[in-house]
Amino acid sequence: MENIVVTGVRGLPLIKHGDNIAAMICERVKIENGDIISIASTIYSKSKGYTKPLSQITPSERAMRLAKLNGEDPRFVQAVLDSSKDIIMEHPFILSELPFGHIGVRAGVDQSNIDDGNVIFLPPDPMKSAAEIRDEIQAITGKNTGIIITDTCGRSFRRGQTGHAIGWSGFTAIRDFRGDTDLFGHELKITEEAVVDEIAGFANFVMGESNNGVPVVHFRNCPSWSGHDNLYFTKDEDITRRLLKANCP
Ligand code: GDP
Ligand code: MN
Ligand code: MN
Repeated sequence: MENIVVTGVRGLPLIKHGDNIAAMICERVKIENGDIISIASTIYSKSKGYTKPLSQITPSERAMRLAKLNGEDPRFVQAVLDSSKDIIMEHPFILSELPFGHIGVRAGVDQSNIDDGNVIFLPPDPMKSAAEIRDEIQAITGKNTGIIITDTCGRSFRRGQTGHAIGWSGFTAIRDFRGDTDLFGHELKITEEAVVDEIAGFANFVMGESNNGVPVVHFRNCPSWSGHDNLYFTKDEDITRRLLKANCP
C-alpha cells in the first residue's frame, strides 16, 4: 500500500448560487483515477441555492414553542422543522430525521459561513448530489473518482463534533469484514467499518470549522474496499432512536 496523501484544496472563493463546484475543483486539483474528494455540504448547498433568508420564514406554533423552550430564533427553528421528516427529540435541542435518512442535531441547518440572517439547509438528496459531482468530474477529466459530501455532526456518548458522510458515490459506505479472519484465525462476526465516515472525519479535520476557507479535501492512494451502503440503521435496529422517541411528545 502506498502512503495516503491528503490535501486541502485552497483558493476556492465564497461559493454562490449557480457556481459549478466540480469545475472549480478540477481547475485547482490534478485528478487521477481512484482519487477521493470530500466536499463540505455547506458549499454544495450554497451552489444549489439550498439557503434562505430568515426574514422569509414564518414560524408555526410549534416552532414558537420550541424556540422558547430551547432559547432559539423561532424562524431558525421553523427551518429545522421544515427540513425534518420526524422529530426524535425536542429539548435541549431538536434532533430529527431528514427525508434522506440522516439523523442530526437541528437537522443540520447552519447559520455559519453564510451572510448574516440566512440559513443553509443540507442538500435534500446528497447521494444523488455525490453521484452528479462524480459524473461531472468524469466528464471534465475522464477520471474515475470517489466523492463524499460531508457535514460536521455531534455524536452520542462523546463530546465533540466530527465529520460525517451524508452522501457518497464511487464506493460503498461500509467495508464489510464479516467472514474475514483476524491474525489468530478467528472469524469476524460483526465488524462493518464505516469507511466513508472515517474519511469524512479526517476531511473535516483538514477543513476546520470556521474561517479556514477549505471546503474540499483531496485524498490520493486510499486502498479500495468492498461492502455495502446500509449506513443508516433501520428503525427497528436503532435502539437509541427508539428510546429518545419514546420520550418525545
Ligand atoms: P459544514 O461542515 O458542511 O457545515 O461546513 P463548514 O461551515 O464547517 O465549513 C467547512 C470548511 O469550508 C471551513 O474551512 C470553511 O471555512 C469552508 N467554507 C465554507 N463555506 C465556504 C465558501 O463558500 N468558500 C470557501 N472557500 N470555503 C468555505
Ligand atoms: Mn454543517
Ligand atoms: Mn463543518
